[in-house]
Amino acid sequence: MKITFIGAAHQVTGSRTMVEWNPGRFFLVDCGMEQGENSYEMTEMPVPAARIEYVFLTHAHIDHSGLLPVLVKEGFHGKIYATAETTNLCSIMLADSAQIQEADAASETKKNLRTGKKEVLPLYTTEDAANTMKLFIPCEYDQMIMVDDGLNIRFSDAGHLLGSSFIEFFLQENGTTRKLVCSGDVGNLDQPIIRNPSSLADTDYLLIESTYGTREHDLIQKPIPILVDVLRKTFRRGGTVLIPSFAVGRTQELLYFFREIKQNRLLPEFSDFPVYVDSPLANEATAIFLQCSSKCLDDETLEVMKEGANPIWFDGLHTTVSSEESKALNTNTEPKVIIASGGMCEGGRIRHHLKHNLWNEKNTVMFAGYQAAGTLGRIIYDGAKNVKLFGEEIDVNAEICLLQGISGHADQKGLLSWIASAENKPKYVFVNHGDEESCTGFANLVEKEFNISAAAPFSGSEFDLLKGEWIRITEPVMKKKNSKSPTSSSDRKKGKTPYDELIEASNDLNEYLKTMKNASFGEIRKITEKIREMINPA
Ligand SMILES: [Zn+2]
Repeated sequence: MKITFIGAAHQVTGSRTMVEWNPGRFFLVDCGMEQGENSYEMTEMPVPAARIEYVFLTHAHIDHSGLLPVLVKEGFHGKIYATAETTNLCSIMLADSAQIQEADAASETKKNLRTGKKEVLPLYTTEDAANTMKLFIPCEYDQMIMVDDGLNIRFSDAGHLLGSSFIEFFLQENGTTRKLVCSGDVGNLDQPIIRNPSSLADTDYLLIESTYGTREHDLIQKPIPILVDVLRKTFRRGGTVLIPSFAVGRTQELLYFFREIKQNRLLPEFSDFPVYVDSPLANEATAIFLQCSSKCLDDETLEVMKEGANPIWFDGLHTTVSSEESKALNTNTEPKVIIASGGMCEGGRIRHHLKHNLWNEKNTVMFAGYQAAGTLGRIIYDGAKNVKLFGEEIDVNAEICLLQGISGHADQKGLLSWIASAENKPKYVFVNHGDEESCTGFANLVEKEFNISAAAPFSGSEFDLLKGEWIRITEPVMKKKNSKSPTSSSDRKKGKTPYDELIEASNDLNEYLKTMKNASFGEIRKITEKIREMINPA
């Protein structure tokens, strides 16, 4: 009985873990896509896709589910177990991801044909995504599911996204039982709409994420007062509040906040301001949120429903935005809110709205989530004076701000208290789904805090779950420079600010320093001195 760590090992995306629960019988937990810039190579799958019998999916985010269609294309024909809400969200998110792959491949092909190069095929197509959906088995929370001989599972609410779960695995080989829990992404407390994470069940082994393994959220900031403030200021100027948002999860949270603002008359002077959600995917996701099981909803949301209100719907909400309507928004001068897809402004309709709104000092661009280094969102947030959009230089005169106080992930304290919520602590904790510092830092912290063994394995490492010992501990393999993740946009590097260049150089330096692990002490000391000199010149 063996666990192999494949994806999201010392990285925040590309979740994928393989378990051989009986000799020659394999399942995967998650099958996610790598997004953004990743430092390490992900090991090849140790067995062909056709040998995998099941995939158990913790939640619908693309970094956990996005490569399922590739697995299916490569021969996987088993079953994919997920909660009903995760299944519904995957049906729209995988189709959307396939459309992005197709559009990217078509535009690359167009370029290639002009220079005599070959056609580029998409990573997967909408048909591959549809074939993948046929393999899903929708499940409920808190039900023991007998999957196969020696393999029972149970989904529990992870409180991270609608339908998100941590999964308990009850594994048996030759009469010996071992229990493994895979956390997926652990949610933050008191997120709107969804419940808080359920308590961790007792387990032998825990595989836990560490996105915020070494950081803590600012608990003082509350999103609704910040939003009210920004709306009031902008509307008084006669401007538009433009919010780049992730379509699934964050957009619905924003709708919940706007409904609260309107229902509780927190902005009486502009009480009927309109909100346009300009994203077909976000609007499909909102429909799924509206139909979800009440088991997924927190007490506050259920209370709102009991009073006869819809938690994410209100007067003035426009969700059927055609591309003509989307264009018309740019000439409409009424004070309004536009939520548009493209959370980091790398693609989606947000880029059109930025082109038409960034130059005008009456407007506000409010970011509602983390902006990764190198993305257009980050460039604007870091204070670029102008940016290039659709070949045009656009001045940044709009007010730029960040909606603080919202996060879908538990922070360090939250992760620790989730582990502490188990009656008996796990015997061994594996840490993944965090950058280098978070993974290693959080593993060390778990050892110290709970006095249990913990490790942050690199991709390809294997652990014997019966004997409780490592079979293989791998060294990291650095990714080659310029190797792109499938979703990365070709124009992400344009418009870098000097500050971005500085951060990039410091990342390069960090990578270089990691290669010095086995260098002589003399060499290491020499470099250390040089760095100190640079920071504190005499
Ligand atoms: Zn997630």
